Amino acid sequence: MSANAGPDWVVVAGAGGFIGGHLVKSLLRDGHRVRAVDIKPLRDWHQRHDRAENVSLDLSLREACDHALAGSVDVYNLAADMGGMGFIENNKALCMLSVLINTQLLIAAKKHRIRRFLFASSACVYNGEHQSAADLRPLRESDAYPAMPEDGYGWEKLFSERMCLHFQSDFGISVRIPRFHNVYGPYGTWDGGREKAPAAICRKVAQAKLDGRRELEIWGDGRQTRSFMYIDDCIDGVHRLMESSFSEPINLGSSELVSINQLVDLVETIAGMKLERRYLLDAPLGVRGRNSDNTLINARLGWEPNTSLASGLEPTYRWITEQMQQRALR
Ligand code: NAD
Repeated sequence: MSANAGPDWVVVAGAGGFIGGHLVKSLLRDGHRVRAVDIKPLRDWHQRHDRAENVSLDLSLREACDHALAGSVDVYNLAADMGGMGFIENNKALCMLSVLINTQLLIAAKKHRIRRFLFASSACVYNGEHQSAADLRPLRESDAYPAMPEDGYGWEKLFSERMCLHFQSDFGISVRIPRFHNVYGPYGTWDGGREKAPAAICRKVAQAKLDGRRELEIWGDGRQTRSFMYIDDCIDGVHRLMESSFSEPINLGSSELVSINQLVDLVETIAGMKLERRYLLDAPLGVRGRNSDNTLINARLGWEPNTSLASGLEPTYRWITEQMQQRALR
């Protein structure tokens, strides 16, 4: 840890991941001194920004959190063992173990008198009953209770939200709790089993193009619905939330609802090709339909994403194609 740690360090936990890497970049741009922390060795980080203090630590351990937070004022906890539906449906115990990270970070935050603590929650906290059809109304913050979240991953998020709220009321740490709805963009996970739908579809279409194949595998019947938030909108929302005084859980997502078939249509248009769709009906699916109700965040922060799915997918598809081409050359 650097010796000249002053009072204005901000800590990004999970900085080697997708959202964390983008967040570090924007905090540096805004003139912050950033301590970027992740369990992965530095060579495996999605992005590494040299002007940050980059540290490899396991933040599920008390001592590591203590080191990481020394001399800092704000903490962004984006660290979690997570992935798309294929990962979280098959790794419930691992997902729940992320509770250790948030818990140890909160304990260290209390010790170091952290001013603001942001916990990255998820739309997976919402009660499944509100998501059982493709065209149900968008999810409001109050729909998390009575609790019936996504098993494993969603329960951990809901529990950790509550722990944040109690650290706030009992110990005076000011918390921020965005419930992210599907974030996508360049530098995200795009293969290996943890990728989410937009990256997976971009990769499959790009692969079909490279291989000259005409067929595309889709998980489910393609009629399940979701909304997807471009990474730049996500980072903007995170900053606005952190700078606000809003300390309750709040949706941070797009309200542009699409079916997975429509998502595929968009990627095919970008790629300039049409593929035959083969539907895998026994693949992991998650809920039938999910959208973000942005009434609260609009009213409190004046925030609404401004990147359409069509325009956010373009740089995402381009970036994934480049990664695939570079890998093929290695
Ligand atoms: P990511 O997997 O790319 O990043 C998470 C990072 O946390 C990884 O780099 C991982 O190595 C790190 N990490 C895991 N265990 C750790 C530990 N013990 N100590 C230190 N670091 C550790 O995920 P992301 O997409 O950037 O998501 C960031 C946060 O936002 C996560 O909490 C995730 O649950 C939440 N979230 C993301 C989305 C999304 O669509 N990406 C949606 C809802 C919620």
